[in-house]
Amino acid sequence: MRKVALLLAVVFLACQYSLAQNQDFSKVEMKVTKVNGNVYMLEGAGGNIGASVGQDGIVIVDDQFAPLADKIRGALKGITDRPVRFVINTHYHGDHTGGNALFQKDAPILAQDNVRKRMEQGATAGNFGKISMQMPPQPKEALPVITFEHDVTVHLNGEDIRALHFPSGHTDGDSVIFFPKSNVVHMGDDFVSYGFPFVDLAAGGSVEGMISAIEHVMAQLPPDVKVIPGHGPISNLDEMKRFVTMLKETLAVVDKGVKQGKTLEQLQKENVLAPWQKWSGDFVKTDTWLETLYNDLTGKKGEFIKHN
Ligand SMILES: [Zn+2]
Repeated sequence: MRKVALLLAVVFLACQYSLAQNQDFSKVEMKVTKVNGNVYMLEGAGGNIGASVGQDGIVIVDDQFAPLADKIRGALKGITDRPVRFVINTHYHGDHTGGNALFQKDAPILAQDNVRKRMEQGATAGNFGKISMQMPPQPKEALPVITFEHDVTVHLNGEDIRALHFPSGHTDGDSVIFFPKSNVVHMGDDFVSYGFPFVDLAAGGSVEGMISAIEHVMAQLPPDVKVIPGHGPISNLDEMKRFVTMLKETLAVVDKGVKQGKTLEQLQKENVLAPWQKWSGDFVKTDTWLETLYNDLTGKKGEFIKHN
């Protein structure tokens, strides 16, 4: 493999954790890291980009924000001169699909059916509490032109790159992307390595579904697999195990409170998530995670788009 440009990422925290596009991206630099085999990770602002690079060209997973498209292209040029052949979206959020309209000039975009539906219709992403973000309807140039219900495989660079759909985790259109030969997996936002996750209850997401997606994925992976999280540094199975344990334990604690008839305010006052305080992040703080668990458990569900 060619040289890897290791650039210092100058990232505003606000950029890192927002799904919206109205930010100053001029200071963002792309950091390129070789993950394993022929898979790289690009960090700028928004979701982590995975890239399979080889003789056949490049397959990228997610494309951050539109204003970063040229920086992403520049970072890829630093690895290879070969063209982008396909783009796969892990889910519909703007910090993973913002570059779609620009990248679709280079290569077709693939995603699960619900990604296209939500991008076309627009949505309010949120947890029915502190997190609420407008995702405006996207022009047709930005919509994935190839969609799948359950899974799809792209056979390039000697790799069977497989996108597998998991219903109702981070959203209702999530895919996890496997690079079996390189021994890498891109989890989308079903797994983040920066603390408590965002679960988009308004878009059919659920904590239960996120747990089952991660457990299903973990059961298929070799112990030394390299994990690209939706956000945060490169990770591994041990960290995913700790993450899913945290999800289960915090869900159980709040479930117990709900069954005792406690209100969200009571649970907040009792600080029931205190033992998991170290997971509190800049985007999803402990209170926001408690609110997400509570709203999920008490049935404040968004509209779940059923499969055809
Ligand atoms: Zn997301």
